Formats: sequence, C-alpha cells, structure tokens
Amino acid sequence: MTSTLETDPSAGVAPAGGSSDRTSAADTAPRRPSLSPSRAADFKSCPLLYRFRTIDRLPERKSPAAVRGTLVHAVLERLYDLPAAERTVEAARSLIEPAWADLRAEPGVAELFPVPTAADGADAPAGGTAAGLEAWLASAGTLVETYFALEDPTRIQPHGREELVEVTLPDGLLLRGYVDRLDVAPSGALRVVDYKTGSMPREAFEAKALFQMKFYALVLWRTRGVIAAQLKLLYLGDGDALTYAPDEAELLRFERTLQAIWAAIERAVATADFRPNKSRLCGWCDHQALCPAFGGTPPPFPADAAAAAGWRTTLPVTPL
Ligand code: SF4
Repeated sequence: MTSTLETDPSAGVAPAGGSSDRTSAADTAPRRPSLSPSRAADFKSCPLLYRFRTIDRLPERKSPAAVRGTLVHAVLERLYDLPAAERTVEAARSLIEPAWADLRAEPGVAELFPVPTAADGADAPAGGTAAGLEAWLASAGTLVETYFALEDPTRIQPHGREELVEVTLPDGLLLRGYVDRLDVAPSGALRVVDYKTGSMPREAFEAKALFQMKFYALVLWRTRGVIAAQLKLLYLGDGDALTYAPDEAELLRFERTLQAIWAAIERAVATADFRPNKSRLCGWCDHQALCPAFGGTPPPFPADAAAAAGWRTTLPVTPL
C-alpha cells in the first residue's frame, strides 16, 4: 500500500533519530503522576486493576504472547537501522535471534521457556521444550513477514521509532506515551503508526483500538501544532490495517474525555476507592486472588507510597 506519507528514502525527510526505546523509559520516568493510553484504558475497564498496576505496582507474570509482541516490535524498530535497500524479509528475520537474545535476559522472560531436565520427570513444565521455543520464534517470524505485506520499508524513512511523546495540558495533566513509529512527510504531514501482533478488531471494537492513536494524535497536536494526517494501525496477525484521520473538533472532545478520566482517577486516589469491574478481561488478570469480585481482599491502600509518588491523597477543600 502506498500513501502520500510514504517517502522515497532519498527525498530528504527528517532522519531517524530522537527515538526513546522502552528500556530507557525508567531514565525518563516522570517525576509526577501521568496518564498513558494503556493506564487510561486500565482505569476505564477496571479501576481496581488500575490501582494494582499503577499505585500498588504489583508484579505481573509475562505471557508468551506479550513477549512475542515485544520481540516483533524490537525487530521492526531495528529493521529501520538498516539502509533502505537492505530492509528485506530475510534481513528482518535475521534480526529475530539477536533481539531475542537481548529480550531473554530480561526478568521473567527466560522462565517462559524452561527446558525440562530428566530430574523434572512427570513435573516437566508444559511447552518447556526446545521445539516449543522454536515454534514460538517461528510464529514471531511469521508476524514479521506479514509486516512486508502491509508496507514496503524500503520506501519509508521514519522520523521516530519508539518515540516518547508527552505534553502537560493547561490544567496540569501530564500525558505520556510511546509511539511505535512516527513518519513526517516533506510537507510536514504526520503519520502515527502502531504495530499490533493480533488481528484487526471487529467494527464494534475499533473505537477502543483508536483510543491509543487519538491519544498520540492529541499529544502531537499539542506539542507540534499539527494534527496527524493519518493514524495507522497495522495488524500483523491477519495482515490488515486500520487507518483514521482525526480532526480538531474530535481531538478537543478527546482531550475532555482524558481530563474526565484523570479527574476520576484523582478522586479514586484521594478517597482510596477503586472499584472492581468484572468483565471478560478478568480472565487475563493476574490479581484475581486480591480482587473482591473473586472473593479476595485487596491489600491496604498504600497512601504513603502514593503521596511519595506525587498523588494528592486527600480531596481538595471546596471553598464555601
Ligand atoms: S479480576 Fe477483574 S475485576 Fe478484579 S481487578 Fe482484575 S480485572 Fe478488575
């Protein structure tokens, strides 16, 4: 597919650079609470899940699917380090092994593919075989290959990859997020690209998928004064793409939505009141044992830790 934002690599667009990968996120962590697309989505789906993840910072297990997503993102990011003409399927596939070697060193990742020993006997972990890892790496290769059916990377010169975008709105709300890829055409037009390793959602769930993209579009608009010409979601699971062109009125509405979500989060922190919201997402939640919706009891609200992290832990006094 060719769009007006796809560029000839020699066309003199801004060079790749200025990108911030997620491993350096800790270095740039905000000194005060902020809102990201994923945390906003957490709060919208289940306030208690938001608390567990953002305030209590409870550990969660990694899943093979999530780690595969990280691996594929790393490969697609590194692909654009190569000269344009060398961005072939074979080159991309050859990036999987080194990216996996880096990822495997991260906590909780190698444990996903334990190789059983004779001592394990009948207790050998399911899927813990060299063949299991091989099949998993092959599935990552399939996703990487599908990418080439959606875009021609020899014709794209990204402006940013894994780029940190952030802005403080006039009311003090700090918005932060990482854009998978940002393209800037010679005309200055922006395209925001996000890679998904799943399949394209049905129409009813498109709004949910676009939430994250509108978030980035809003931050870019507020920082650069330019409304992205295109928001593009690439679904590597089924080789489909979803594109969208936001307008100013919509981004203004979206900004008000984020402010309302943030006000609700601040209220929940100040009152230590985070309700569980049971849904099909509970099936993937690591915290059922602590969730009242499943008969559990959450730990006491960590008010001191929240205050130390910059949260207001009391409601503001309204003047009479
Ligand atoms: S189990 Fe469900 S309701 Fe409970 S915290 Fe997790 S997502 Fe929320």
